[in-house]
Amino acid sequence: AAKAAGRNCARFFTSEMDVALQERMALEKLIRDAATHNDFVLHYQPVFEIVGRRLVGFEALLRLPTADGTLIPPATIIPIAEEIRLIDKIGAWVLREACRTAKSWPSDLTVAVNLSSSQFESGSVEPAVAEALNESGLDPHRLELEITEGLLLNHTHATLETLRRLKDKGVSIVMDDFGTGYSSLSYLWKFPFDKIKIDRSFMESFAQSGHNVETVVKTIIALGREMNMRVTVEGVETAEQVDFLYDANADQVQGYFFGKPVSAARVEAAMLDDRRSTSPETPLPEPVTK
Ligand code: C2E
Ligand code: MG
Ligand code: MG
Ligand code: MG
Repeated sequence: AAKAAGRNCARFFTSEMDVALQERMALEKLIRDAATHNDFVLHYQPVFEIVGRRLVGFEALLRLPTADGTLIPPATIIPIAEEIRLIDKIGAWVLREACRTAKSWPSDLTVAVNLSSSQFESGSVEPAVAEALNESGLDPHRLELEITEGLLLNHTHATLETLRRLKDKGVSIVMDDFGTGYSSLSYLWKFPFDKIKIDRSFMESFAQSGHNVETVVKTIIALGREMNMRVTVEGVETAEQVDFLYDANADQVQGYFFGKPVSAARVEAAMLDDRRSTSPETPLPEPVTK
């Protein structure tokens, strides 16, 4: 009887629900296995100072390679990892891997790591940062930690204290995806960020809405300067955007116009090429358009 009931039950699920459920279970298993065996990879996207187009560092971005050769993006991985409580473990791995990799780069280059608010809630972020720095021997000044306003939305005293202690260690604290929330401005008062990154949605609407976006971006850049924060603009895809940002006094730029995220091996190969083909006086090669 139980069996028959089970079979009837199964019929309540539409086939779409079934597929979605199976996909979700399969993803969960992939993420669990990857967390157990450290099968994730980090890709690195270059960040340039806009004046002189000097390479200043890279942002580490999480991916999960699959058997069919595709990469599962962080937008899929992170929410599930948070739900199944693996984000602390994965986040700690990201920190270790990013610091270890950055240690092999020229010593003036920084590495930026994205953090999830769960890592603050659980208290795991401080020991994970300390371990990554100790293990790699990376100078803390070369590590940037990117947080989003979601963290400050329901922040506690403990969150701000943690950020302050990390900053005291020499690590830079970055407000990522700036401008996407409701009351973004108020977050700048709460903590002395070293840098703000203007969300790439501003560059996306740049072509369409022209002057309005230009005014907002210019204003954020001016505000950042006023508050002693460097300003990076994300999602820069065109030469027109670069020209505008140059005039608007942005500090740093990041986006497909300058380079997509690539594997650590490709970063290393590009750096070796660079050292072979250019003397220290020659400027870096012009960024390659996709
Ligand atoms: P984010 O930190 O804002 O990272 C920038 C995202 O924009 C990356 O997507 C990058 O590939 C993409 N991007 C960069 N330049 C351009 C451009 O010119 N045009 C367009 N259309 N896109 C561009 P990605 O790698 O898919 O990462 C998405 C988000 O996932 C990140 O946004 C970050 O919030 C999160 N994330 C990535 N890695 C980690 C991680 O290790 N831990 C946590 N907690 N979150 C991560
Ligand atoms: Mg980021
Ligand atoms: Mg961002
Ligand atoms: Mg973003």
